[in-house]
Amino acid sequence: MVSKLLAHDFHIHTHFSPDSDGELNDYAEAGQQLSCHVGYLDHFELAFQERKGYLSEAMLPLLLEEFDKTHSKYPETSISLEIDYYSHLHSEITEFCDNHRRDFDYLIGSVHCVNELAVTSHKEVTLLVQKYGLVGVLRHYFNEVEAAVHSKLFDGIAHIDAVMRFAPNFPKSLLQAENYWRKRTLELGELCSQYRLPVEVNLTGLNFPWGRVHPDQEIIDLLVKSGTTFFVGSDSHRVTSFVNSVPLVCQFTRYLQERGALRLPGNVNSL
Ligand SMILES: [Zn+2]
Ligand SMILES: [Zn+2]
Repeated sequence: MVSKLLAHDFHIHTHFSPDSDGELNDYAEAGQQLSCHVGYLDHFELAFQERKGYLSEAMLPLLLEEFDKTHSKYPETSISLEIDYYSHLHSEITEFCDNHRRDFDYLIGSVHCVNELAVTSHKEVTLLVQKYGLVGVLRHYFNEVEAAVHSKLFDGIAHIDAVMRFAPNFPKSLLQAENYWRKRTLELGELCSQYRLPVEVNLTGLNFPWGRVHPDQEIIDLLVKSGTTFFVGSDSHRVTSFVNSVPLVCQFTRYLQERGALRLPGNVNSL
């Protein structure tokens, strides 16, 4: 018997993502035990459809079928995709979202790449920093997240400042980068508020040199004052990470709820 739901975790990767291995059922069972809604959010990369291990459009029926089975047993689950936004693929991504919106409870947009290199990979972001400098990489990244917001394709936006994940590894320009990050994150949060688009409080930054959530508490507090709303995501790639994250997911959920700033994407029932 499920006790009162304590939180929603809207960012859970399963074995349908190339970098993850959790079964949908195992997450759902753990979520039920811990009174936490499980929002599946596997990567969908239109730019990488040919790459091994990536979820292809042709595989979506498999994901949906597995979700239906899980959902019939565990109703506190929802299905979405973490759709990588690329402004140069705007028409193709729009077409994809139009074709598949009805298959999912909500769609979440995010940005990982600058010029097809992932800012969330230490190796690739290092190449980008060598080319553009850290502030230059930040500029490219934030411009693309801004374009994702303006696209109006999504019901929520993930880790708006994930580009800072490895920033402390580039100490020479860190201070300048932090000032730039703060300015652009605040601007982005306000833009999301104008579009009534909830922003994810993504916990994964705690596991990287950045050591803070995306966005961090100082920014959350400032944005709450200007009307930005949020949802919470652990960005778990393993069931054990999800289980370990639930206390923090609950803590942030309560924090946002107390400030009237919790907004769940799509048609998911509130707590
Ligand atoms: Zn992501
Ligand atoms: Zn993710």
